[in-house]
Amino acid sequence: MIVLVINCGSSSIKYQLFDMRNEAVLAKGLMERIGMDKASFIHQPAHKDRVTLSRPINDHGVGIRMVLDSLVDPTIGVIESLNEIAAVGHRVLHGGMKFSDSVLITPDVIEAIEECVELGPLHNPANILGIKACEKLMPDVPQIAVFDTGFHQTMPPHAYLYGLPYEAFEKYGVRRYGFHGTSHRYVSQRALALMGGVEKARRIITCHLGNGASVAAILNGCCVDTSMGLTPLEGLVMGTRCGDIDPAIIPFLMKKTGMSPEEIDAYMNKKSGLLGLSGISNDVRDIEEAALQGHNRANIALEVYVHSIRKYIGSYAATMGGVDAIVFTAGLGENSISMRSRICHGLEFLGAYIDTNKNSVYGKETEISTDSSPVKIFVIPTNEELVIARDSVGICAKLQNADQSQNAALGAPRRAHSSL
Ligand code: ADP
Repeated sequence: MIVLVINCGSSSIKYQLFDMRNEAVLAKGLMERIGMDKASFIHQPAHKDRVTLSRPINDHGVGIRMVLDSLVDPTIGVIESLNEIAAVGHRVLHGGMKFSDSVLITPDVIEAIEECVELGPLHNPANILGIKACEKLMPDVPQIAVFDTGFHQTMPPHAYLYGLPYEAFEKYGVRRYGFHGTSHRYVSQRALALMGGVEKARRIITCHLGNGASVAAILNGCCVDTSMGLTPLEGLVMGTRCGDIDPAIIPFLMKKTGMSPEEIDAYMNKKSGLLGLSGISNDVRDIEEAALQGHNRANIALEVYVHSIRKYIGSYAATMGGVDAIVFTAGLGENSISMRSRICHGLEFLGAYIDTNKNSVYGKETEISTDSSPVKIFVIPTNEELVIARDSVGICAKLQNADQSQNAALGAPRRAHSSL
């Protein structure tokens, strides 16, 4: 079964085409700056040379068309016909309280995703554009939505409610939703598998440390708390986001500077975090280099960053009554030996002992705790696209079963789904 995974951002499209018989990636690519003067398009077929293009791409519809054309192109393509694609899985940022699981996209589902636009104003509209473009170009292919918020829907009310008047939740849906759910789900399930099941790894803390970053507490395989909130702004200090701050700072700064709600939003989302603190970059590699040369604010930025992660690890250990495994993933979590080391040193009181030699790895699934460490520490490269493809296969299988039972009940001959 061939599955196309699509991740539409406000001006970008990322995609991967999987052959789910062996979960092999047949092709992947990235289109950026859609709707701007010149968009860039990188298409990487497996076992063939990478193709790069630069030309205007008016909208997501045109972009998706180009992606599909590339997949079936006689030279750079990897399949002969679009009919080979059995399902399209879409990453959708915000599913609000409606979606805890991935779903087959129907008009009702699109309406529900539209209702969440207020909660995910940058991503949800782009996700809908991608879904509609694929529906138009592949009308007979099942489209599946996989929500970034879905995995966190198991959080109990004491973790998802804020200390605001209850009506903020009831009337406006103001609560913690959490993001990066597909990543937290994938790496926690890998950790469970590596440790031999839920009896041995009841309490897992997953640290998704990329440009956007979040931590999740996972008890018996289910998320019980996570650091991002109503929006991805809350929680850890990130590349350009401030993370947790005293909410009174917002009206205070607005009064002092005259910033509008939109301006303060951009201030906290795009100008803060590691970039705002260091004044150098949102990328830890640049900041570490400057810190080595004695740049004071670079040093402070790294200290604030590490402090915020350790604070969450400590609080989630308290929430779950201890911790059995800590997992690092995403750009920094997978690749930064120095930051993993800084974060873990000082966590020995929890029983987490990092092994300096084992920690010398980049982007490889491995255990990095000492052999005798009671708490296991892992590096697990995330694979959100594979989760989306697997969910799509699962939903298609359910559809096929439902079809077959219906046909059997009606005494009708079974309809063949040759592509499954
Ligand atoms: P996102 O998907 O949120 O854009 P990624 O998961 O791709 O982010 O991570 C990108 C970030 O990871 C970079 O901004 C950088 O801070 C960090 N990163 C990647 N590789 C390294 C490395 N070797 N050392 C330190 N930080 C790294």
